[in-house]
Amino acid sequence: MSEKNIRTKAIRTQIPRTQFLEHSNPMYLTSSYVFEDAEDMRASFAEEKDRNIYSRYSNPNTSEFIEKVCQMEGAEAGFAFASGMAAVFSTFAALLESGDHVVSCRSVFGSTHTLFTQIFPKWNISHSYFKIDEIESIPDLIQPNTKIIYAESPTNPAVDILDLKRLGELAKAHNCLLLIDNCFATPYLQQPIKFGADLVIHSGTKLMDGQGRVLAGITVGSADLVETIYRFARITGPALSPFNAWVLSKSLETLAVRVDKHCENALAVAEFLESHEKVNRVKYPFLDSHPAQEIAIKQMKSGGSVVAFDVKGGLEAGRKFFDSIEWLSLSANLGDTRTIVTHPASTTHSKLSPEDRAESGITDGLVRISVGLEYVDDIIADIDQALKA
Ligand SMILES: *Cc1c(COP(=O)(O)O)cnc(C)c1O
Repeated sequence: MSEKNIRTKAIRTQIPRTQFLEHSNPMYLTSSYVFEDAEDMRASFAEEKDRNIYSRYSNPNTSEFIEKVCQMEGAEAGFAFASGMAAVFSTFAALLESGDHVVSCRSVFGSTHTLFTQIFPKWNISHSYFKIDEIESIPDLIQPNTKIIYAESPTNPAVDILDLKRLGELAKAHNCLLLIDNCFATPYLQQPIKFGADLVIHSGTKLMDGQGRVLAGITVGSADLVETIYRFARITGPALSPFNAWVLSKSLETLAVRVDKHCENALAVAEFLESHEKVNRVKYPFLDSHPAQEIAIKQMKSGGSVVAFDVKGGLEAGRKFFDSIEWLSLSANLGDTRTIVTHPASTTHSKLSPEDRAESGITDGLVRISVGLEYVDDIIADIDQALKA
């Protein structure tokens, strides 16, 4: 059979049908599985058989979700987690030992930053940060104990872009693993393995579900690394629930059409904001004004669903803008059918010191819009009246 397009894979990757020949995939809400006899039990636990034993290890629904994401990312294997942060934490914890060091971009998800600064030091795992425009300083940050280079692109919340191909080259040259949080792009817009990533991490909570219903995470990549992660996870128990896996596998069937529309709406919102007199600076990867537009176009199919901008007048004007929004959601999530407006400085990144926020490009007036699937003129109208207020 010929290699199928990613859209077809997202819809047609499916575990085998049961005797009922159901068309849509059934839900396997079972914590454990039965054995035929004593020999089956022994052989199953000895891992002589590839089968489900207990849903902390594997479940048909999670297996289907993992297989689908692997197909879409071009990965050999994966493991699904209860949240994006469970995926980030477990992946690092499985691969690192006391004394190891990580080189990471400074602009990472708030909880990932807290992991580096407050959790990992407990186990003597250290990190060094490079700023978004300092990718060429990575060789200076590498130590003999550096195991992992870590980055997001586009970043949350400032939608900055990192050159994945260059990161891949640097990781290879310094014998480090490259881990990419691909949450903002989704496997539909960008496949970091193509550029040299060893592992790709997602929060499935965002565009993968895309409808604001479930928490989920997943890590995919080379089979031997995933084996190490699997060994860690089957003991420590961060597994995704079968119900959430079922929801996600269904969601992925519509990922491409949803993300296409998200991107179309986001570009329209970004262009509108750029022409608005109350707005200082708009960041969207596919805008001509984005400092890394050229790289974004090289590595992404489209610009994604998130637009960042600064309201003129700083914090006070920002608060006024949020208070004047009529019906768009004020929430901390993103990647939903519903447009969400967030103030990172007082919400998702409030735990960071003002200096840390500044280093991540998060100003007091920064607004992050996760552009949804509503009629785009309606979205723009609410933003416009709030800006004018
Ligand atoms: C939301 C998010 C996470 C964490 O995912 P959860 O599902 O909320 O645990 C990690 N990375 C990025 C880039 C995110 O946006």
